[in-house]
Amino acid sequence: MNSLMSKKYQVAVDGFSSCGKSTLAKQIAQLLGAVYIDSGAMYRAIALIALRNNCVEKDSVNKDCLKPLVENVKIEFQPSDNHLILNGEDVELEIRGKEVASHVSEVAKHGFVREKMVKMQQDYSLTNSVVMDGRDIGTHVFPNAEVKLFLTADPEVRAQRRFDELKEKGMEQPFEEVLENIKQRDEADQNREIAPLRKADDATIIDNSVMSREQQLEHALQIIYVKLGEAL
Ligand code: C5P
Repeated sequence: MNSLMSKKYQVAVDGFSSCGKSTLAKQIAQLLGAVYIDSGAMYRAIALIALRNNCVEKDSVNKDCLKPLVENVKIEFQPSDNHLILNGEDVELEIRGKEVASHVSEVAKHGFVREKMVKMQQDYSLTNSVVMDGRDIGTHVFPNAEVKLFLTADPEVRAQRRFDELKEKGMEQPFEEVLENIKQRDEADQNREIAPLRKADDATIIDNSVMSREQQLEHALQIIYVKLGEAL
């Protein structure tokens, strides 16, 4: 695995909402010594800008309002804790809230938003090996990624995990509401015109409905070491 140190590589972790993609991607990045990028956080940040600047009218986005804000946006990840820094401000807590969750898929479907985010995501990989989680990483952002994982789990299992996570953060929401949001985002993400959520042909599926985090990590690492060993 010495070659891992010298050649840059990409690990794409795609899948449905609240599947534990970021937990897994973070663990993998740490073990490999690669940079972890949460692409969903970037779309959440754009949704936050849209909401703060009143660019969301009812359920649709006013493109003229949002476009200049997206053009000039600066998104960074704080190395110490991966918090998203939006135009110099730590917005990690706000982007995880209910308001953002219920508008993010609408914002993320627009071409001008996706083009800008994908460019930023690709730029991050120019200087680093990256583990990136999202919906279109293996299909669009890094179609030649050395490793592509596609995570899935039953919607009820995902909603329960998300419900527990929100409760732990003091942001409790009724279970039914959490489940509904997950189902709506799955539907919107799979059916949008540009870069819809789908498994890349060469991605390996991991259904973690009945796996512990430890089992999932072990399983993912087995796949990663084989794939990276072949590719590097
Ligand atoms: O991963 P997370 O649930 O934080 O993503 C929030 C939303 O951002 C998704 O529901 C999806 O609409 C959008 N997204 C996307 N493409 C990505 C990552 C996220 O469209 N690569």
